[in-house]
Amino acid sequence: MMPVNRVVVIGATGSIGRQALDVIARFPHELELVGAVAGSRAGALADALKPFPGARAVVVNPSDQVPYGMATGPDAACELAATQDADVILVGGGGAGALLPTLAACETGAVLAVATKEVLVMAGELVTATAAAHHTTIMPVDSEHSAIWQCLRGEELETVARLILTASGGPFRAAPLEEIPGASRDRALAHPNWRMGPKVTIDSATMMNKGLEVIEAHFLFGLPYDRIDVVIHPQSAVHSLVEFCDGTLIAQLGIPDMRAPIALALSGGRRLPGVVPPLELTQGARLDFEPLDPRRYPALDVARRAAIRGGGVPAAMNAANEVAVGAFLEGRIPFGGIAEVVAEVSDSFPGGPVRSLAEILAADAAGRRQAYDLVEEAALSPAGPLP
Ligand code: MG
Repeated sequence: MMPVNRVVVIGATGSIGRQALDVIARFPHELELVGAVAGSRAGALADALKPFPGARAVVVNPSDQVPYGMATGPDAACELAATQDADVILVGGGGAGALLPTLAACETGAVLAVATKEVLVMAGELVTATAAAHHTTIMPVDSEHSAIWQCLRGEELETVARLILTASGGPFRAAPLEEIPGASRDRALAHPNWRMGPKVTIDSATMMNKGLEVIEAHFLFGLPYDRIDVVIHPQSAVHSLVEFCDGTLIAQLGIPDMRAPIALALSGGRRLPGVVPPLELTQGARLDFEPLDPRRYPALDVARRAAIRGGGVPAAMNAANEVAVGAFLEGRIPFGGIAEVVAEVSDSFPGGPVRSLAEILAADAAGRRQAYDLVEEAALSPAGPLP
């Protein structure tokens, strides 16, 4: 029998966090929740923790009444992320705000399960170097990277020819090109296959999500960018593939349900029974693959350019993307404006090496500020300045 894995969940009230709590509650003999962090919603965190009466709770920046016994503030979040009482720390939300708890978790020597790709995009070198220095194992939770991790089990990295990330194509895969830049919020949020939070759903519609995932794959698996490809696969049944030097491709398949990669990461790579129903191949499952049309998804090339320039550019790009997606969701810029704002910030951002946390946070802040200014210039609604 496997020992119980003690888990801390960062981002417990987000989409990944809620699914993680669901998995932990379903496997009480394998998984135990020792603590959870939420960004702002204290009441929602308290509700989510009702099935886990022993778990510690932290809300970083409370927007509502904080229940008795719940700690607050970023220091408390980092302290919980750094606890020696956990075997696995899941980072599952918060975008750029998850970076500090992630770095704290990197020093534990436990397993760091990363679902928040933004932390690897912003600070991939710092996160992987800090984890390596403290013998902390990074387990991917993103479905594509979990798939690649599974395809690579038992293989030699030297025999890998390339990684192939699959992308569903999102809601605009078959839309007339001229309709995309002015597409509505509801249309952009209607992902055909995956149920996810609004930020990653919009990122899937622009394909910035796949750009961030290319960078994430580079840092998780150590391959150069010219050996990380993207292919459109509308059914999201193949979650990603690895091509080996002998011409073999290994793929990982399953239904599109994040609880599968979450459970695999929380259990440290062990397979728990019945996490999700299996993909039924004979019940109408199809596997189609198409090349990606860069005119349809300009954000992917923006991300690749930022990735290759490196340094603080990906952090600035990621920050600009968070601002631009937020502005689109608020109705302040059109859908097509997201990639334009991000490209303008990212392509003009100065290159050069970035090593320290302070330099990364400065790149994030500069990208964010420039993106706010661009949104302000382009804003559709006279609703006043952004916060
Ligand atoms: Mg993904």
